[in-house]
Amino acid sequence: MARPVIPNAVPFLGGNEWAYVKECLDTGWVSSAGQFVDRFEREVAAIVGVPHAIATVNGSAALHVALRAAGVGPGDAVLLPTLTFIATAGAVTHAGAHPVFLDSEAVSWGLDVACVEEFLRRECERRDGRVVDRATGRRVAAVVAVHLYGHPCDLDPLLELCRRWSLPLIEDSAEALGAVYHDRPVGCDGLAGCLSFNGNKIITTGGGGMVLTRDAALAARVRSLTTQARREPLEWIHDEVGFNYRLTNIQAALGVAQLEQLESFLARKRETAAHYQAALGRLEGMEVFREAAWARSSYWMPAVLLDARRCPDVRALIRDLNADGVQVRPVWHPLHRQPPFRDTRVGPIRVADRLWDRGVLLPCSVGITAGERQTVIDALTARLA
Ligand SMILES: *Cc1c(COP(=O)(O)O)cnc(C)c1O
Repeated sequence: MARPVIPNAVPFLGGNEWAYVKECLDTGWVSSAGQFVDRFEREVAAIVGVPHAIATVNGSAALHVALRAAGVGPGDAVLLPTLTFIATAGAVTHAGAHPVFLDSEAVSWGLDVACVEEFLRRECERRDGRVVDRATGRRVAAVVAVHLYGHPCDLDPLLELCRRWSLPLIEDSAEALGAVYHDRPVGCDGLAGCLSFNGNKIITTGGGGMVLTRDAALAARVRSLTTQARREPLEWIHDEVGFNYRLTNIQAALGVAQLEQLESFLARKRETAAHYQAALGRLEGMEVFREAAWARSSYWMPAVLLDARRCPDVRALIRDLNADGVQVRPVWHPLHRQPPFRDTRVGPIRVADRLWDRGVLLPCSVGITAGERQTVIDALTARLA
């Protein structure tokens, strides 16, 4: 008999979700304006410690408008890690720009600042106040860093490098709500940060996202772009061609209820990660993804790396565990290896390929039980050589 499925990451809806959604239905405020939208934006902004937050229909849309508002446009180049969800690069493509894929570093699994610096120094030059990629003639318009699996990137050196080259840093913080870098909440140290509230993220609105920024002008531009760039509430006059990227009040109602539980969600995630670390961390041939000294991860997804001797074929192991109802996941498939990006510019890649080749992400729903965690550990270790 098949064991019950242990899901990879499913929502935990244990708070005021019903009450707040019912309030939307009772009052008729179901669409893309309403109290819950304002409240959700205000409360996320307060938690991350930024003055401006604009809710969006999802995290992908947040990235798209953040890049557009940061001045990324047709023909530009944007530097980003190859090891991320495709939405990070999709936003670049949808802005009409071209990704340049760079490597990750082995501690944070995030964009390696040394690779960014090397690319800028070796491949780029300044021309009339612009940074130009010599090989393609494209203007480098932005750098996007991703806080992968909830672990913050090493932001300070990245911020310093971007400052030196006058490039905006956009943070893909989709997986990192609640993470801390040194003593700063992760979200938006760069020009803008983007969150996701997809069903498997730290908190969920069903689908949803948010742009965070300290820059009032950027915030205004993002708000405009997400609301069809409509100039005034009565007349149908639009400043430019924008998007319908707004979050609905129903979704925001879910978000407000989820946010009330954020601390307990993070504590549960941390407890699950600690449990896996204690059980798996000492095993030979198994490397657990741990927090750097300067980091507090959101532990969106706890991860391990298996060496080739203990596990010659990680993909087969992942398939087998899923067939047995234990929903482990592979690490993101590096984007330079993906069909749509076959001809895309890419720097030297070593670390990202190794993390992809050797990595396994472990089930980590907020509601996972101690028994389920033990099943995961037993199922995984039983398959090692
Ligand atoms: C989830 C995610 C996104 C996209 O968010 P959606 O809300 O699913 O559109 C972008 N980047 C990363 C790294 C993500 O994990």
